[in-house]
Amino acid sequence: MADNIRPFPGAEVPEQTISTERRPFGFCAHEKITLDEHRRTVKCTACDKVFDPFTFLQSEVHRLQDAWERHRQVRASLSELVERVDALKKEEARLKARVKTAKAKVEPSIDVRNRSL
Ligand SMILES: [Zn+2]
Repeated sequence: MADNIRPFPGAEVPEQTISTERRPFGFCAHEKITLDEHRRTVKCTACDKVFDPFTFLQSEVHRLQDAWERHRQVRASLSELVERVDALKKEEARLKARVKTAKAKVEPSIDVRNRSL
């Protein structure tokens, strides 16, 4: 820059002192929650949304109750299926024994040692 060129006085941009808080773009499912012990607040770790503690606890209780109910239903369904598999295994063993008996009746036994064919 040449010595005879100087910036125009008063053209400096003032320092920016105000900013807006930017939320993460898109939908947040609030999957990770932080309990702030100092402020006694419940907030989403990802988007910083603050929840009403009672409402949050209530929704968690409902979510846990639903999960336990689904768990109970799955366990009942599982034990019913295990009983059916056991019955099918018994039936399979019974039918295999019948097939074996029927084959023994139809096919003559081959005595290789005495060569009685
Ligand atoms: Zn969130």
